[in-house]
Amino acid sequence: MTNSLHSQKTPSLPKKLLRGLLRQCAWCGGKGGFFTTWYTKTDNCQTCGLSRERGYEGFELGAATMGVFMTFGSIISWMIISVVVGIALVPLLLIAGALAVFVPTLGYPLTYTVWFAIDITFRSPTAEDFAQAQAWLDNRALA
Ligand SMILES: [Zn+2]
Repeated sequence: MTNSLHSQKTPSLPKKLLRGLLRQCAWCGGKGGFFTTWYTKTDNCQTCGLSRERGYEGFELGAATMGVFMTFGSIISWMIISVVVGIALVPLLLIAGALAVFVPTLGYPLTYTVWFAIDITFRSPTAEDFAQAQAWLDNRALA
């Protein structure tokens, strides 16, 4: 069984990042990427079979860093907008607090899919990665 996803052209960085923000696999655009539910992740993309870590143990640290960027970025953006528009202090702080709670909890899967987009930009998938992805897909098809 061959998979045309493995011989595709590398997507552009904006396309990979957009896919990550939409909770898709940055490589193939597969819906959900490595997630089977909003919070349940697997090691491989459910569509193309690429491993998210690909032998790199620091992947989780990158995803956690993306979570910090997304949370702090949303709070700082909100505070800048609030100051420019002239929003009162209490609503400003209440919404900043809500962002601090909801961005990391609801955005959890995006930290992985966006980080995967950056990771495959700097560490392009190799022939070995695609071979492992194909083996994973074949194994899943048999199960
Ligand atoms: Zn994929």
